[in-house]
Amino acid sequence: MILLSRLMDLIYPPRCGVCHAFLGEQGVNHEGKEMDLCRPCFNSFAEVRSPLCPSCGRPFGSGGGEDHACADCLAKKPFFDIARAPYVYEGLLMTAIHELKYARKSYLARSLGPLLASYAVTWLGNPDGLLVMPVPLHPRRLRERGFNQSLLLARHVASGLETELDYLSLRRTRFTQPQTNLTSDERRKNVRRAFDVRDAAGVRGRTVILVDDVATTGSTLNECARVLKKAGAREVCCLALARTATG
Ligand SMILES: [Zn+2]
Ligand SMILES: [Zn+2]
Repeated sequence: MILLSRLMDLIYPPRCGVCHAFLGEQGVNHEGKEMDLCRPCFNSFAEVRSPLCPSCGRPFGSGGGEDHACADCLAKKPFFDIARAPYVYEGLLMTAIHELKYARKSYLARSLGPLLASYAVTWLGNPDGLLVMPVPLHPRRLRERGFNQSLLLARHVASGLETELDYLSLRRTRFTQPQTNLTSDERRKNVRRAFDVRDAAGVRGRTVILVDDVATTGSTLNECARVLKKAGAREVCCLALARTATG
């Protein structure tokens, strides 16, 4: 198999999934794992930095100063306990996530997933009993796309944290239109009562790490957190690969 894959590499040299540059020696990361992103693309991802909202993790795009609650969290305390993301949703990371989701480049998850996993390990350490859950897609959307990008990322997070992955208990029961192009209010209404928990017993008393690819206003994560808490989850910590900054 290795010989065959080397032969294929000669015929079709691997290229960066984002900028299409030939990968060459760059196609391997520091852990010796295969990467589908070139080093310049990877290095361009902007990390989320303070000042940010201590609750939802949203960075304040401009200016310095200390962390402080954002207007949304002040107006209404979120159902989740905390939300964090390693990167800002912009530039080439935005392109990478678009390619993953809409150009069906599911293989990009094997480069993006470990980034989220190593952030999760640094953030959470390795406490026992965490339950990793991806934000689910509606079965209709899953059929259209062929995979759930959040589940692909969540697999890496669960293996990084050496903990359990549950992608069945939390379900999206209502088909909703995409959140893109909706205002913050419309997003909240759009996902309202869109999820349920099939097996409350599996969630009761647990600390859930809820994984999504992108957090914008956080309304999807918040609605998932609401039903998870209702089902008895002790704590819900949200983890997205990227999140938008406030204007
Ligand atoms: Zn590239
Ligand atoms: Zn906030």
